[in-house]
Parts: sequence; C-alpha cells; structure tokens
Amino acid sequence: MALSCPDGEQTAQLTFFGLFALQHRGQEAAGIAVADGKRARLYKDAGLVTRVFTPKRLAPLVGYHAIGHTRYSTTGSSAARNAQPFLVETMHGPLALAHNGNLVNAAELRTELLGRGFGLTATSDTEVLALMLAAASGRSWEDRLERTMPAWKGAYSLVLLGADRVVAVRDPWGFRPLSVGRLPDGGHAVASETCALRTLGCTEVREVAPGEIVTLHGHEVTSRQALTPAGRGARCSFEFVYFSRPDSEWDGSSVHAVRQRLGEELARECPAVADVVIPVPDSSIPAAIGYARESGIAFNDGLIKNRYIGRTFIEPTQHLRERRVAMKFNALSANLAGKRVVVIDDSLVRGTTAGPLVTLIREAGASEVHLRITCPPIAHPCHMGVDMGTYDELIAHRLSIEELRVHIGCDSLAFLSLDAMMRAIGRADGYCNACFTGHYPIEVGDVAEKGAFEGVLA
Ligand code: SF4
Repeated sequence: MALSCPDGEQTAQLTFFGLFALQHRGQEAAGIAVADGKRARLYKDAGLVTRVFTPKRLAPLVGYHAIGHTRYSTTGSSAARNAQPFLVETMHGPLALAHNGNLVNAAELRTELLGRGFGLTATSDTEVLALMLAAASGRSWEDRLERTMPAWKGAYSLVLLGADRVVAVRDPWGFRPLSVGRLPDGGHAVASETCALRTLGCTEVREVAPGEIVTLHGHEVTSRQALTPAGRGARCSFEFVYFSRPDSEWDGSSVHAVRQRLGEELARECPAVADVVIPVPDSSIPAAIGYARESGIAFNDGLIKNRYIGRTFIEPTQHLRERRVAMKFNALSANLAGKRVVVIDDSLVRGTTAGPLVTLIREAGASEVHLRITCPPIAHPCHMGVDMGTYDELIAHRLSIEELRVHIGCDSLAFLSLDAMMRAIGRADGYCNACFTGHYPIEVGDVAEKGAFEGVLA
C-alpha cells in the first residue's frame, strides 16, 4: 500500500485505512513509513493493523508520502524483525521498502550481499531487495530500480518510499496484483488490491503493468516500462480462487463474478444428488451461490464463522491452525439435520480444516456430506508468494483423491478441473497454475525454504 498525498496530515491515516482493507493478505505484522521531503519515519510491529496502529502511534507519522504493509511470511519467519516496511539510510537519502511476493533466488542474492560485507538484520528477502537498491548506481530511485530488477527472479510487487516520492513496481511476470488510482482530494495511491483503492475513494484505477515502474509525486504520476513483460505473463490464478477479496478486480475481472462462475463450472463438472448447498464461509460463498444456481439445489447457510478470527490457512504454524478450526465455525443444525449436503470449499492445502468441518456438519445431523472444491488438487508448493508449505505438507501431494476422501470422512469428494477453472477466469493463458500442475513459469531450482535464513539470527 502506498500514497502520495498533498495533505501531509492525512497521509498516515489514509494508509491505515488502506491497510485495514488489505488485512486479509497478512495478519502477522503491520507497518507504515512516511516521508516529508527530507526525512522518513517508521512504525511497525507484530499483530493486526488495528492493534499495531492506535491514534497515538499514527500521530507522529506526518509526511506527504507513505508506504504500508501487512505481513504474511513466505521467506523468513513471522518474527517481529521481519515486519515491513524496511527503512534504511542510504547515500541517496532514506529508503523504505514493502514487498508482496517472493524471490526464488533470494538465497543467492543474500550470500552475495554477505560476501560484499553487508550486514543483515532480518531473514526475509525484502531486506535483500532494500540493500541491493541502496548500493545500486543511478541518478534516481527509478534508475536504480531499473538497473537492479534484472537480478531479481520471482514475484515482486513492491512499493518504495524515498524522501520525496513513492515508487511502485511489478515483476515482469505479473505474479501478484498491484494497482494505482487517483485519490478524491488529490494525490494518488497504490495497493495490492483494488478493494483498498475503492475504500479510499480512488478513481481512474488501473493495474501497474508487469515490468512497469510508476512514480507518485502528489498530483503527478509518471511511468516507465523498465522490463519487457515476460511472454503472456504469469498471474496467480489462486488470487481468484482464494486470496483476493471478492470486491477486488484482478486482470480486469471481478473476483466475486469469477468465484460465482467457478461454482457454476463445478456444478456442471462435479454434480451431486443433494438437498442443500452450503459454503465454507467466507471465501466460498460466491462459488456456492453459483453451484446452487446452476444445479437447482437450494443454497443455505450451514456453517457460521466467527468473523473475529483470522484466516486459518494464513496462520504461520500447524499447531495454531488446528486449534483455530474448532474456534472458527459452528454448524447450523436447523439447516442441516436429515439433509444431503453439498459443501463448497475454495481449496484443500494442508487438509487440516476439511476433516473437522465434515465432522461438525455430520454432528449437526446431515445424512450425507459431499465436498466440492473450486480448484484442482494443490500438489506442488508455491515459490511466488503464497505460503502453501513444502511437498510433505501438501495433502494432495501425499494422497490420491479417494485416500483424501477417506481421510476427510466425506461421502464424495471432487475437484474442479484446470480447464474449467480457467474457463471461469475467462483466460486460456497468461496465468501461473504451478501449484496445480507443477509447471513453474520460471526456473525455481533449489528454492530456499521459508525458514532457511534463520540459522544465525535466533
Ligand atoms: S504456484 Fe499457485 S499460488 Fe503460487 S503464484 Fe502460481 S498459481 Fe499462485
């Protein structure tokens, strides 16, 4: 999230609103850095946006330019030292950086920096990006970015804060989303999802193109195409399936509308004889509506979610995930007792949620439980910014569909095919589907595991 705003009093507050709209993308830590033309200030800590930022903590963050971040760890632990933005002093003035994505060559770049005598304070790949930029040559941050970007392999939607500007950049594959818009009272904002820009009242919203550098300087926006987009691109299809908020747009399509179409495709491809269709709230609600509409089976609520508990998939340790499933849902017996139930869920990753949910639905009196998933089995890890864990942690890598069904305890289990998923998205190519197919759009080699850099810094 980033803003360049003519009213310096409001900048941090608006960034806070934007981060609050992006809370679903990361719940481990939050931070905001501001710059007033000369100096930069930063506040960041572990926790949710509303816990980290009180009015007292926002008050000193006065400046015309700001970047903010909600952290979800993909490289480096969830320790507070990995919270973003990273702020460093450089010979070109202050530099703060916030990063969405994951570099596949972070280990190599880190070793190179250590070899050149740099000291590192964190174990994430974002500090590596910041130090490389600090050491780069060039007359402006845009020049230094352009010269450094060819060395970065992987997913990076970045926002950079200098003393007098904000710069946004997206990797040439376009793995993760990034959009820019005009603020209603002047100035501009950049965010990972358009829902945050709409929250701020932005108009003229457009995507930052793959390989593009966009500079925000109050009322001015300038842009340059730093790297040629890589082929037809490799946008993350999982943004549509799970990650993005339904009120966001991605690649020109409404996430909500795509999820409804995923449900319709699922009803055609994986029908079930049943009395009621229920979603696993919240991300599967649009797909369950689509499934019900296409199948003619009644839609109803069957699971009630405690909305004050964060996403279970995003929680960083297995132990926490398992405990949270039980705290998160209650089943509605009135809608389930004696019924044959189709349950729509967006995905099966580690497989810790589905079994307890099926048990809950049976205990509420359902006579049959048929589980339908709105994407293909996830059998390969993501190295481009979604923490799905290792091969061993991915349940669809270890078990066949029938073994999965037995493990989960449902009467039938079916997944949407890749072709049907792409039909719902409305594109034949230009997307990354590596977690489903194992075909990575970039050479991933021996990618460092999430905690690979934790050895020395305890
Ligand atoms: S591997 Fe899956 S989650 Fe990762 S970028 Fe590709 S589609 Fe998205």
